[in-house]
Amino acid sequence: MDPEIAKAYEAERIRQNSKIELIASENFVSKAVMDAAGSVLTNKYAEGYPGRRYYGGCEHVDTVELIAIERAKQLFGAEYVNVQPHSGAQANMAVYQALLKPGDKVIGMNLAHGGHLTHGSPVNFSGQLYHFIPYGVDEVTHRIKYDEIAALAEEHRPKMIVAGASAYPRVIDFPRLREIADSVGALLMVDMAHIAGLVASGVHPSPVPYADVVTTTTHKTLRGPRGGLILAREAYAKALDKALFPGIQGGPLMHIIGAKAVAFGEALRPEFHAYSKQIVKNATALAQALTTRGFNLVSGGTDNHLLLIDVRSVNLTGKEAEHRLDEIGVTTNKNAIPFDPQKPGITSGVRIGTPAVTTRGMDEKAMEEIAEIFSLTLQQDDQTARNQAMQKVRELTKRFPLYDTFTYLA
Ligand code: PLP
Repeated sequence: MDPEIAKAYEAERIRQNSKIELIASENFVSKAVMDAAGSVLTNKYAEGYPGRRYYGGCEHVDTVELIAIERAKQLFGAEYVNVQPHSGAQANMAVYQALLKPGDKVIGMNLAHGGHLTHGSPVNFSGQLYHFIPYGVDEVTHRIKYDEIAALAEEHRPKMIVAGASAYPRVIDFPRLREIADSVGALLMVDMAHIAGLVASGVHPSPVPYADVVTTTTHKTLRGPRGGLILAREAYAKALDKALFPGIQGGPLMHIIGAKAVAFGEALRPEFHAYSKQIVKNATALAQALTTRGFNLVSGGTDNHLLLIDVRSVNLTGKEAEHRLDEIGVTTNKNAIPFDPQKPGITSGVRIGTPAVTTRGMDEKAMEEIAEIFSLTLQQDDQTARNQAMQKVRELTKRFPLYDTFTYLA
């Protein structure tokens, strides 16, 4: 019906199929999740919550939302769940709207050290509406400075401490953060967007027993549709529901909530646990293989799904490294490293992660080949090496097929 768009969809399917996806925040959903998202539920208005909607005809979408909520509760052991946030940023906005007043003091991780925009960046609503005080990582070890958080908490007596990151390769110490929050009577919010799938599988410690509120996206390690999710203690249920709708959103995306339910169902199965374990094994193997080849990793390695390569050691900027990798069929993103001397548009780092390649079935041996591709592309600068790298990308993507049983063209 629309060849112009179909052509671009098909080109995107082929791009995903024929390149190696190493963007740490991306993944490939199952056909079941895609089918649930592209469904009749896209037609339905359902402002409100199950059993208390502002529209008629909600009996079936109520069933879907209730199943999504139940599955998320089971998956994370949470008392309260809200599956309606359109995105991770909206989930965070709803929490702030529910629990803070404009101008309140909040301690959050510095964007330049691995935090997220919504954790108080001055270019984001969070930094504009609330008084965020940033914390960071140690200059040598690149680990979160919990003592600094404790000192900042003591000095500023914040209303809330926000933990979680977009580019932090190490385990986060939630009990310690709870202790700090309690010492000054602050709320603890954990944004586990990057590690949610690992948390669901018990591969990363869970923040749920320690935090007052936990937010996440559903599309990263959790391998669901693009979207957000809020988990909390029952005491905050009313305030959070109200903050999200009617506070900041209108009608929920019921087709996406259906797809979230399917993804949570998948995550409850033993295969997903094995998948999460493999993500971490692959990241560890990739870190080892890159280090062996002389690459310098922020914090010296990884505990989770994510690695940050300091590309100054190969005399490149993050921007140049991302571009070179893109040219030979490996997708990554430039990323600031802690204490980065370069501007955010250039950077000295490349962030990579293993969730997507692990979904394709790649294992530790494949990680060894990916490290070799990095070496050929970033440590050498000649066409022979580039050709060799491209050949390796072709072999790997053929050996681990993806979305090759359908087409968007007639
Ligand atoms: N929180 C963290 C830690 C993230 O890494 C991200 C996404 O990059 C978000 C929130 C925002 O999610 P979204 O892009 O769905 O708004």
